[in-house]
Amino acid sequence: APKRIPKKSHRIDPHLLSKNAVKVTHTLQQAGYEAFIVGGAVRDLALGISPKDFDVATNATPDQVQRLFRKARLIGRRFQIVHVTFFGKGHPEIIEVSTFRALLDNAGDHVAESGRILRDNVWGSQGEDAARRDFTINAMYYDPSSETVLDYHGGMADMQKKTLRMIGDPAKRYREDPVRMLRAVRFAAKTGFELDSATRAPIAKLGKLLNDVPSARLFDEILKLLMSGYSWRAIQGLKEAGLHHGLLPLLDHILDDGEDSKGANDFVKLALANTDERIQSGKSVSAGFLFATLLWPDLLKNWKANSSKGMANIPALHDAMDDTIATQSSGMTIQRRFESDMREIWSMQLRFERRVGRYPFRLIESPRFRAGYDFMLLRCATGELNPAIGQWWTDFIAADPAGQEELMASAK
Ligand code: ATP
Ligand code: MG
Repeated sequence: APKRIPKKSHRIDPHLLSKNAVKVTHTLQQAGYEAFIVGGAVRDLALGISPKDFDVATNATPDQVQRLFRKARLIGRRFQIVHVTFFGKGHPEIIEVSTFRALLDNAGDHVAESGRILRDNVWGSQGEDAARRDFTINAMYYDPSSETVLDYHGGMADMQKKTLRMIGDPAKRYREDPVRMLRAVRFAAKTGFELDSATRAPIAKLGKLLNDVPSARLFDEILKLLMSGYSWRAIQGLKEAGLHHGLLPLLDHILDDGEDSKGANDFVKLALANTDERIQSGKSVSAGFLFATLLWPDLLKNWKANSSKGMANIPALHDAMDDTIATQSSGMTIQRRFESDMREIWSMQLRFERRVGRYPFRLIESPRFRAGYDFMLLRCATGELNPAIGQWWTDFIAADPAGQEELMASAK
């Protein structure tokens, strides 16, 4: 039976709750079902931080859920969940409602030889739903009506001990789903918690199972890690866990310290610190920009190699872009839409050095100028590009037409 934790112990501040998530649980409860806020939202609430999204778990089936809400969509083919959308000020909010899921062993799941789950689609009890979640702190259920937390696996105690603990046998859970190893690193970075020793131990041996995970899923998880607001800490965590090899092949030589990777290291570190700062202050970060920075040291190396072979600057850069992307794709493919953003940011870099004629006027009109400019400033900050060029552009953007003509003259 779960531990019932009253308000005076968990101290969750109701002001941090999404009104829409509360509306969803109330509506379900009024209709006679059980409904709770669950997972990462409860973890964040208990940490006193405002969750970025809210998931609800219920014993109502997806069809039953859908009938209760005006804007409700069934998502997923095998295991259906319901997205309930609320329109208000600003962005619409989606509350994800899932039906309690059965445990692997009772659900007739198909398990690959390595132990990886291939299919899981049967409803179960709340206790089963709790047991199939990953970490104890991610397996708590909060009922906004009674302000009670139901805690099946000692998540609240682990919270107090600042420990990240896998539910069940960690090795078995990693075999079922190797992505849980990446999640362990991400949550440790985000919360500042320590991995429990039994949770950490199997990772060294099982890390290679990530090779079997479909590339798109890996990409999603790495993106979450990089966008966690603690990307530098998370990447250090990947390295400590020995998980970075093959995942972002181009990070290998950045993270494996050596004198010649120092410059690269500085650039990536600065870019990630920048990203973390933006995310922590609630600003958006583009994935294209982020990957463009991570792959830049490699691109620079290829570009220089091409130039020293006597290639002209523009083809040397474009050829290097192809090489860098091809090498990356041998590990984890970056989605097309991000790839084109990356290419645009990269190819813009040469144009910042071309301060003659109408070129600068045309460049600032291009739709991705801001991203290319921010990228260029990072290069200036690490000294890879002459900081005077960055300053020139900063002045150019701010100047009136007369001032711009003056700057053009000074650039000659
Ligand atoms: P975030 O703040 O990044 O959204 P989260 O804990 O909400 O963190 P989600 O990926 O949104 O993470 O997943 C929601 C919940 O679903 C988790 O808290 C966990 O209980 C469960 N879960 C998600 N992925 C897995 C997994 N691979 N294995 C087991 N449980 C999982
Ligand atoms: Mg979540």
